Amino acid sequence: MDDRVRRKDSEDREVTPLTLEDDDALSPRLRPRTLAEYVGQERSKANLRVFIDAARQRGEALDHLLLAGPPGLGKTTLAHVVAREMGVQIRTTSGPMIERSGDLAALLANLEPGDVLFIDEIHRLPRPVEEVLYPAMEDRKLDLILGQGPTARSVQVALHPFTLIGATTRTGLLSSPLRSRFGIHLVLDYYRADELLAIIERSARLMDLDLSGTGAVELSRRSRGTPRIANRLLRRVRDFAQVEGDGTITLPVTRSALERLGVDDLGLDGMDRRILRTIAVKFAGGPVGVETMAAAIGEEKDTLEEVYEPFLIREGLLQRTPRGRVTTPTAHQHLDLPDLGQGKMF
Ligand code: ADP
Repeated sequence: MDDRVRRKDSEDREVTPLTLEDDDALSPRLRPRTLAEYVGQERSKANLRVFIDAARQRGEALDHLLLAGPPGLGKTTLAHVVAREMGVQIRTTSGPMIERSGDLAALLANLEPGDVLFIDEIHRLPRPVEEVLYPAMEDRKLDLILGQGPTARSVQVALHPFTLIGATTRTGLLSSPLRSRFGIHLVLDYYRADELLAIIERSARLMDLDLSGTGAVELSRRSRGTPRIANRLLRRVRDFAQVEGDGTITLPVTRSALERLGVDDLGLDGMDRRILRTIAVKFAGGPVGVETMAAAIGEEKDTLEEVYEPFLIREGLLQRTPRGRVTTPTAHQHLDLPDLGQGKMF
């Protein structure tokens, strides 16, 4: 049952930036391993280079690092790159996976000197668990309570120097005591088409694909600014090229495959268009509150805010206003709708 639901989801949503099952099988091969291989995010990379070199020269662990940005932009990849560049091991976990303080304490106590602990979705850490991190990050100490009731006593355990790398899609949801304990904050942004082109060409080389220049450019324009989607669409277009063509990923093959996958000219998929259409038509262009939207669309509010909206906003199709979401004239044009809400918005 579970599997069927996921399959359906992955078929419907080739452009979802969230991880699907078949990403995992191929991603180790496509994942850049060094800063030099990591495409784009130039400013973040240049700063990281300095911080890594400085920490290495001093023989210290890198300062704790917070990576923020929508899913699929390369936060996990960058965490692995940092560990490799520092020449240390990385242990990975995620906020929702750590249920009890003791689980996190055990992870921290088992780190070797200089190791990286990567916590994905760090904004989802339960608050009591999060509190274990404060003394660990600040003073490299664990405050443990042993026993229960009147015999309980607190002990302090010293930790080796380590680097915590936290990844979050929502910096706003991170508590300020936690946020302030990260010495380095990097915000990853959607990739430009030329950067995605470099990623697609690199992946095609690694996968030994026959990809034409124009096919690659088309894919890069329609990958929602997201490397995970670029790699996934590349694999799907390869399937069409193989079964319905001679294996070469040409421009016509790419265009027809993307059309069959429901990915439009801007890289929007069915869900993106549904969101825009719902606001534009059902709510006459808005403003509409995010809860109402979520109910109308049958999608979680968090997913709307973390996954779909940032890209629609960046593309100038949607705006967040204090009274709710509104669609823009560009969105109405894209959807071939009359400018319903225009008078109200501007
Ligand atoms: P996130 O953790 O932000 O959700 P990931 O690090 O899992 O994203 O990245 C998704 C996939 O996209 C990776 O498997 C990798 O192959 C590819 N990728 C991400 N960032 C880059 C990059 N800068 N250069 C090349 N490939 C990248």
